[in-house]
Amino acid sequence: MDLNDTPEQAEYRARVRAWLEEHRDEAPPDRPPDGDEDAYLAARRAWQGKLAEAGLAGVVWPKEVGGQGLGPIEQVTVNQEISAAGVPGILDVIGVGMLGPTIIAHGSDEQKARYLGPMLHADEVWCQLFSEPAAGSDLAGIQSRAKLGEDGSWTLNGQKVWTTNAHFASYGLLLARTDPDVPKHKGLTMFVVPMDAPGVTVRGLRQISGEAEFNEVFFDDVRLDADAVVGGVGNGWGTALTTLMYERLTIGLGSEGLGYSAERFTQPIAADPEARGNAEVRKRLGELGADFIALRFTGYRTLTALASGQIPGPESALAKVTTVNAAVAGTDLIADVIGPEALDESSEWAYAISFLPGLKSAGGTEEILRNTVGERVLGLPPEPRLDKGIPFSELRAKEREATA
Ligand SMILES: Cc1cc2nc3c(=O)[nH]c(=O)nc-3n(C[C@H](O)[C@H](O)[C@H](O)COP(=O)(O)OP(=O)(O)OC[C@H]3O[C@@H](n4cnc5c(N)ncnc54)[C@H](O)[C@@H]3O)c2cc1C
Repeated sequence: MDLNDTPEQAEYRARVRAWLEEHRDEAPPDRPPDGDEDAYLAARRAWQGKLAEAGLAGVVWPKEVGGQGLGPIEQVTVNQEISAAGVPGILDVIGVGMLGPTIIAHGSDEQKARYLGPMLHADEVWCQLFSEPAAGSDLAGIQSRAKLGEDGSWTLNGQKVWTTNAHFASYGLLLARTDPDVPKHKGLTMFVVPMDAPGVTVRGLRQISGEAEFNEVFFDDVRLDADAVVGGVGNGWGTALTTLMYERLTIGLGSEGLGYSAERFTQPIAADPEARGNAEVRKRLGELGADFIALRFTGYRTLTALASGQIPGPESALAKVTTVNAAVAGTDLIADVIGPEALDESSEWAYAISFLPGLKSAGGTEEILRNTVGERVLGLPPEPRLDKGIPFSELRAKEREATA
């Protein structure tokens, strides 16, 4: 692939840069300043609205649903220019990056007309209601149940966990079990859930970083209309795979090394004469630099695949593992150089040091992604799957037999 912008791409980049230059002063800070969380969220919503009006949100969404109908190269260009301008991107990365594309691919015309516009402009923020206490890596093991009533409506009971943004989301896209008598991947259905429906309870989880970005969400006899189903009853697994594919792309393309470049880690070291001359520190920094260069070229490979209409392969899994590990290794190095003050609330590194390790789990854990690479890149024997073909309702019985 030619790594330089074509004349058209250069012209697009110049237009994006000019808009960001002109509107930079209207952008809110990237992280909440101390105090008024509601005002901060309102400012981030308004900023997403402006980005959407300027065509800098929903870049790859089709034009018919309010997007720009452009390709992944333009999406990456926008991400790069937003990062270079030092302004925050959109607030609802999960909605616009992952759930919107799922509704575009599987939703009805009515669902697209109703939900996508307010999502793009952040008038309604969305959350992803997939993970449960006993269904994370093994997502198809979901236990939340939706039962069909005689009038065609559904009654939902169960619990989700680690739901980012649920505390201010208007809607969630939820995976529930609708038929326990078939193998676990087959009895699932995707629903749109209004977060203010009677029976929905959201409880915040406070993290070591001091923030509470994700939540537990409980459903007690929540009534959902027949038109809440996305992608057909029993087709939830296929619908969820679309979300997971976009999740990988959003993490891979959205962040350029999660915003942590080798240069960023070099700056505090260059400013410290003792660290600068320390051979061990220099070695660790060199290793980081090598990882980030490898990541950049893996990113180009992903872009090449996307630009030629292919879906990126399992190398995206490796890119996620390497990105997170390199960023964590970088913050470990900074913590060693700066010392305990790196964790002081006033330190610009405190948030990164405490938040980044969590990303080892988000979007697929390191072990699961390494399994993917082992099976699909290296051709190693697959993991044993003892539950294959067994109805979900019989799995516990089989488990008991196996351990008896
Ligand atoms: C910052 C963050 C934001 C998140 N936001 C959301 C969200 O908005 N919505 C949502 O639905 N979920 C969200 N999640 C949840 C995330 O998807 C899960 O954490 C992830 O799928 C892992 O599931 P788990 O935490 O239940 O871990 P488990 O699946 O219980 O895994 C525990 C450990 O066992 C290992 N393990 C499990 N199975 C295997 C295996 N077969 N082979 C080898 N090792 C294995 C795992 O790698 C891990 O180390 C978020 C998580 C984080 C950290």
